[in-house]
Amino acid sequence: MTEQSKQAHCLCNAVSLSIADPISELHICHCSTCRQWGGGPMMVANCGTKVSFKGEPYIVRYHSSEWAERGFCKQCGTHLFYHYLESGSYFIPAGLMQLGDNVTMASQIFIDEKPHYYEFSNDTVKMTGAEVIAQYSNE
Ligand SMILES: [Zn+2]
Ligand SMILES: [Zn+2]
Repeated sequence: MTEQSKQAHCLCNAVSLSIADPISELHICHCSTCRQWGGGPMMVANCGTKVSFKGEPYIVRYHSSEWAERGFCKQCGTHLFYHYLESGSYFIPAGLMQLGDNVTMASQIFIDEKPHYYEFSNDTVKMTGAEVIAQYSNE
């Protein structure tokens, strides 16, 4: 491996994650489930399937839908991942990782569910929930 794996960990350090693939883009989800889960929009990187965990006994996996589970640390409550079950991809919250200046906000999804009380000024791709679902069902 030429590039070192990226490390991430929860607030209490009981759980740490090792991410093999490089990260250059962040994605925002404004859907009501993400906002209820996190108190605000979810900001994540698609870290693919090459993610390994330490501290597995501290990880709680909550099935938030038929197609995904969401993980958090049972000791400190830090949100660890959104895991899309069909592809096996892990979406890791940006705040868990040390990200370089090259990382940009690439897209905002479920833009039609975004409440009016906030707005990101970043220039990104924007997709409605229907557009996201249509894209996934074409893959
Ligand atoms: Zn923790
Ligand atoms: Zn969402």
